[in-house]
Amino acid sequence: MTIIRRQSLVAYGAPLCETVVDCPEPKGTEVLVRMERCGVCHSDLHMQDGYFTLSDDKRLDVTNGRTLPFTLGHEIAGRIERVGPDVSDAELGRAVAVYPWIGCGDCAACQQGEENICAAPRHLGIMADGGFATHVLVPHGRYLLDYAPLPAALAGAYMCSGLTAYAALKRLDERTHRGPVLLVGLGGVGMMGLALARAMFPHTPIAADIDPTKREAAVRLGVTTYDPADPAARKAVLSATGGVYGICDFVGSDRSLAFATSVLAKGGKVVVTGLLGGAFTTPVAMFPMKAMTIEGTLTGTLAQAKELLALARAGKIPPIPIQERPLAEAQAAFDDVRAGRVVGRVVLTA
Ligand SMILES: [Zn+2]
Ligand SMILES: [Zn+2]
Repeated sequence: MTIIRRQSLVAYGAPLCETVVDCPEPKGTEVLVRMERCGVCHSDLHMQDGYFTLSDDKRLDVTNGRTLPFTLGHEIAGRIERVGPDVSDAELGRAVAVYPWIGCGDCAACQQGEENICAAPRHLGIMADGGFATHVLVPHGRYLLDYAPLPAALAGAYMCSGLTAYAALKRLDERTHRGPVLLVGLGGVGMMGLALARAMFPHTPIAADIDPTKREAAVRLGVTTYDPADPAARKAVLSATGGVYGICDFVGSDRSLAFATSVLAKGGKVVVTGLLGGAFTTPVAMFPMKAMTIEGTLTGTLAQAKELLALARAGKIPPIPIQERPLAEAQAAFDDVRAGRVVGRVVLTA
């Protein structure tokens, strides 16, 4: 019998540790994927801590519903190694990216294809054992997506940061035809958003970040940028655009959302994907007065993951920098991400 080597969470707040278990035999529609690449995401660090910081004195506990040891990792690409009796053997060896946001299949959200916001999720690497392992068990082949000719590491990364940016941009709908969208925050998701917005929309996006290095990276791509900490930034955005119809807040703090709403046009929308923390207040009358929409989104649907991969496979999205490290160095990779020593994505290899 094959074994699975994993880099697992054995206690919250403690370093990852190698665990070894017998490899399960896939049943029914299940598919066993041999991991080739699995990206390290910022949310993996929060899962290791066991909480997200909501504001200075508030934490969201995320330790419920998971038995330890548990294996994180949701940016997975690999090859089909074994299949359950209800799956054709012809699939063996196929190179696939794994859509990790798998739902219960029964709730109202799942019925509409929104498994990413399922009420009883089985999200891989979050609620079910994920990809920081030699193998990962996937409940059904429909979650496995072809990615050739993309590199495996990039295909995995598209399943989280790429998908989050794509789903957020899609929610701006026809507003993207009225003028440039504004992207607030140029971290991993924001830079992916920038590349996508340029590929998807008729107007070149504009961007805001408090970090001059990140602004320079966007300027080199021909994007006009603003420093939201500059008191003159709000007026500058308004005079350049007349008010922005579509904004993505990839930061998710009180300050980023305050800046975003301050430059909205009437009828404009802000989509929040960031989780930095803080509390946002606004006069309630601003909702009708500005016909304003503020909404949140969490990763994206399977259908959106397929759309995004189609764009990427057609060469429409410039790749992000990838640094690869062996699976056994998972904790060192986490440390690098935590210390901000990573440009682009760190991806573990099996
Ligand atoms: Zn992620
Ligand atoms: Zn569900």
